[in-house]
Amino acid sequence: MKAANRTTETKFIFITGGVLSSLGKGLAAAAIGALLESRGLSITFQKLDPYINVDPGTMNPFQHGEVYVTDDGAETDLDLGHYERYTSVSLSQKSNYTSGRIYYSVINKERRGEYLGETVQVIPHITDEIKAAIRQMEGEVDVAIVEVGGTIGDIESLPFLEAIRQLRGDLGRRNTLYIHVTLVPYIKTAGEAKTKPTQHSVKELRAIGIQPDMLLCRTDGALSNELKAKIALFCSVDRDAVITAPDVENIYEVPLEFHQEGLDDKILKLLNIWTGAPKLEPWRELVMRIKNPAHAVRIVIIGKYVDFKESYKSLHEALVHGGVANNARVVLHYVSAEDIAERGQNGTDSAAQLLADCHGILVPGGFGERGVAGKIMAITYAREQKVPFLGICLGMQLATIEFARNIAGLTDADSTEFNPRTPHPVIYFIREWYDYRSKQVQMREEITATGGTLRLGSYPCQLHPDTLARAVYAKELIIERHRHRYEFNNEYRQQLTEKGLVISGVSPDDKLVEIIEMVDHPWFIGCQFHPEFKSRPMRPHPLFAAFIKAALMHQGLR
Ligand code: GLN
Repeated sequence: MKAANRTTETKFIFITGGVLSSLGKGLAAAAIGALLESRGLSITFQKLDPYINVDPGTMNPFQHGEVYVTDDGAETDLDLGHYERYTSVSLSQKSNYTSGRIYYSVINKERRGEYLGETVQVIPHITDEIKAAIRQMEGEVDVAIVEVGGTIGDIESLPFLEAIRQLRGDLGRRNTLYIHVTLVPYIKTAGEAKTKPTQHSVKELRAIGIQPDMLLCRTDGALSNELKAKIALFCSVDRDAVITAPDVENIYEVPLEFHQEGLDDKILKLLNIWTGAPKLEPWRELVMRIKNPAHAVRIVIIGKYVDFKESYKSLHEALVHGGVANNARVVLHYVSAEDIAERGQNGTDSAAQLLADCHGILVPGGFGERGVAGKIMAITYAREQKVPFLGICLGMQLATIEFARNIAGLTDADSTEFNPRTPHPVIYFIREWYDYRSKQVQMREEITATGGTLRLGSYPCQLHPDTLARAVYAKELIIERHRHRYEFNNEYRQQLTEKGLVISGVSPDDKLVEIIEMVDHPWFIGCQFHPEFKSRPMRPHPLFAAFIKAALMHQGLR
């Protein structure tokens, strides 16, 4: 959608962060996008990450958090999840660049001789490459929001900052806006909020040639007008360009808070864009629903990364959305798969205690053998006790293995990921499959450490009539995002379905099993894809909405 009353030029908002990391820059960027979209502007996002990995696909989720997957199969930073959840945009390979990816491309060009013998340097070659990556969005949308990862003062982000500095010259003052997210800490002993870190951070930015136009000040409470005036004075920004970004109870309040502070009005003024008033009713309603639920359900997530919740970011949000759809607060309880396995050795009852009073069990995606035994025990529990169960990706694969072992009598059934020599590889490595995006048969190479062999991004899935999945989605063809190497082994289809496993979703050519469920169970679904990547607060994903509904029924509330 193009706003009618403005020029066709794309305006760029650059968001940087100062003082320290974890200030919620990604959420701030997402909330700005939400506000601009609510005013009828078309928007998109881009995240620039300073690290050298070409993409986050191979990074440890413990360190980096979740790897978010786009429709076109890009493995990206989790901030892209916030961007998609807060708006209606669909992001792509173009939406996330790392230093590694930029350098990789420049070095490849150099090897191909494209620089014609020039000395290849950070300025201009790397910065030009960055600028070209950013300018890909030109003409596509009204406003492109570009978030630079890292904190001002880091050596690593300098080329990105230099590139965005140059872009003001290239694109013009009216088409570029620099927003700096900083911290205004409240010092208890002094009894006041301190502006010095912000002043220093802005000084650092200026030293590299960027004068911010607006400051988003993260703080415990509200900033007084005096304090705002002081920050404005020392940092050379307009008074109404100093925005309080207070801690909020719920992340979906951020757009409303920003609006109240006048953030969107000021952005539009500085960028010389005219729009109508924002339509924020859906956001108000959402926050109201989240804050005043009629019910509460307890969902257990059996995980490997339970101490680092960032690794399950989208999952967490999708469950919250499922709660919103059912007017329920979802109380998430992360249980370590290894704890379950350890307790299981002392008898199943001990393991069952960990799951005893939950209303739904979820086994999320994952890689590697660690925690597998405990996850399988949890699946047995969910199946036998008829607790609503949702298995995602690895969770679906393990549900298949559990069923094969305990119901179909294939005692040693396994995935070749964990036991390459299993006599019953119910989950295995498929060498070739039809890729609907490229319309070509994809050949998988041997498994490599770089993860080049994953099935990534959106794939269609056909739902069989008279199945739970079909009822949940209320349609026949769905499209969901994938990130995995292994697949359901078709050679076991008949054997398993004869025993009561239901294959309810398959690829349109019927070669890939995408969803399994179980007869004689109130709600048991395993999906090979990651539905959490497509859930949005205003449009909760049907699988999560139905899972929470089943959990409420299990609880006996409905
Ligand atoms: N490790 C499994 C695979 O590669 C599952 C991956 C996942 O859960 N995302 O197929």
